[in-house]
Amino acid sequence: MTPFLRPQYRSLKPYTPGEQINANFIKLNTNESPFPPSPKVAEVLKSGIADRLRLYPDPTLGQLHRGVAQQYGLNEAGVIAGNGSDDVLAFAIMAYAGGGGKLVCPDITYGFYPVYADFFGAELATVPLREDFTINPEDYAGAGGTVVIANPNAPTGILLPLAEIEQIIATNPDNIVIIDEAYMDFAGQEHSAVSLLGKYDNLIVTRTLSKSHSLAGLRCGFALASKEIIADLNRLRYSFNPYNLSAITIAAASAAIADTEYYAERIATINATRERATAALTQLGFVCTNSQANFIFATHPKISGEELYNALREQKILVRHFALPRISNHVRISVGTEEEMGALLEAVRVSLSVEG
Ligand code: PMP
Repeated sequence: MTPFLRPQYRSLKPYTPGEQINANFIKLNTNESPFPPSPKVAEVLKSGIADRLRLYPDPTLGQLHRGVAQQYGLNEAGVIAGNGSDDVLAFAIMAYAGGGGKLVCPDITYGFYPVYADFFGAELATVPLREDFTINPEDYAGAGGTVVIANPNAPTGILLPLAEIEQIIATNPDNIVIIDEAYMDFAGQEHSAVSLLGKYDNLIVTRTLSKSHSLAGLRCGFALASKEIIADLNRLRYSFNPYNLSAITIAAASAAIADTEYYAERIATINATRERATAALTQLGFVCTNSQANFIFATHPKISGEELYNALREQKILVRHFALPRISNHVRISVGTEEEMGALLEAVRVSLSVEG
């Protein structure tokens, strides 16, 4: 660290992204899709878009916002896209909790929320999940700050029913409630808080193309909210980086979002594979949460989370282990192809017999 760094940044604890490994590994650690994106994305990339790169991209993101709005039956004034959903989460936390506000979230959830709270100068208040890792909505009534809930939650995969999400929004009329739906495409649209957008002016729903749309490398996510909230977020965006999405991202993401049929099939396949792999792990003595996302969250009485992570790594399978209170004996396993999950199960059997 140089002596030039401003004092307020010296104690930052940056987010630790999952490892991106190129070697000959089965990669089940960052919840990417095992399937390629819609062929419409490849068409865009082959369409001579390189010529377009001489010019700045459209800062209004109009094409993309219209595409998203159409998909969700909303007005485009209620949409803001970002460079991944991390980007829009950052703007929302900066806007409504930063500079001395408060951010309230579960004790076990997406690890970026506390990092953003710290970075933007928000006081962080964590609320313990119940023993079974479910959220008690009553714990959030009158939370006294911006609330952020991932639904399904990460890394548990557990879905909070829409009525309980609504309870949290309704009991915090004086604060913004952010529902991070990075994994909602796997749970099903009927559970989404998007249906509550017309009813509550304190609600922000975030989505990403990184998981269900096989586009983690493209970097595109978006927030849906009232046009007034979107105007707030644009005020920050235009004060920081109005060109936060490249022309390639705008065009490719727009093509992907329109191809709902392609993605519906992939999502169904991933969910079916998750259910089969979860059943097989349960047979082997694992306890798995009822994940509605594209990952499995599992623990075994005979092997620690770290030991299993290391044993799988030795067999060239990468999963995610969090050395954190309450979940250090779990591993999070992204759902890959049937073949990849077969190899995972085989490696798990080996790991258990070695350790047992
Ligand atoms: N929210 C949750 C709950 C996540 O797990 C992730 C992925 N790490 C994100 C948001 C951010 O994803 P992205 O920036 O790729 O859209």
